[in-house]
Amino acid sequence: MDTYVYRLGDALYINLTNRCTNCCDFCIRNTYEGVGEYNLWLDKEPTVQEVLQQIGDPTRYSEIVFCGFGEPMMRLEELIEIAREVKKKGGRVRVNTNGQANLYHGRNVVPLLEGLVDVISISLNAPTAEQYDAICHSGYGKQAFEGVLQFARECVKVIPTVVLSVVDVLSPEDIERCRAIAEDIGAQLKVRQMIK
Ligand code: SF4
Repeated sequence: MDTYVYRLGDALYINLTNRCTNCCDFCIRNTYEGVGEYNLWLDKEPTVQEVLQQIGDPTRYSEIVFCGFGEPMMRLEELIEIAREVKKKGGRVRVNTNGQANLYHGRNVVPLLEGLVDVISISLNAPTAEQYDAICHSGYGKQAFEGVLQFARECVKVIPTVVLSVVDVLSPEDIERCRAIAEDIGAQLKVRQMIK
């Protein structure tokens, strides 16, 4: 049976899609079927109702996290509908994204998230377009990196907490360059551990 929601710690994670505009070298999907005991490969993407039913009362969790085994913002309409219900019921919403939603949807979709998303975590992954392309292999090629930065600049206008994340396989120098990029944008930098 497909896993549409899964619990990690106090948070509940939503698995909206397996699709992604990137093909990162370090993607967990290259080596694992899912997270912990959860198999996250989907036979069918869930409907809004299926996800809301499985969330139930969102205040039972520290946060509801759109993350998944793919890029959740590729299902923007569904994400917005679910987030709206979660907020209505008093829940807290985080989105983990590759930051390519504006490229994918061909317009600035970030204002649609205002009031619905408390935290957005954007994978920065690298300090330059060349390095990003070399490890993330985006369908948008070298344009992807600037697209991610522009997306982050839009996010700081409407989302209370914006985090840019990098994986700790980067050199200390590159991590500092990413920190400077995050500071310039007005976002926080988070250094994540590589999942091996
Ligand atoms: S952006 Fe995330 S889901 Fe997409 S390929 Fe990279 S690590 Fe995997």
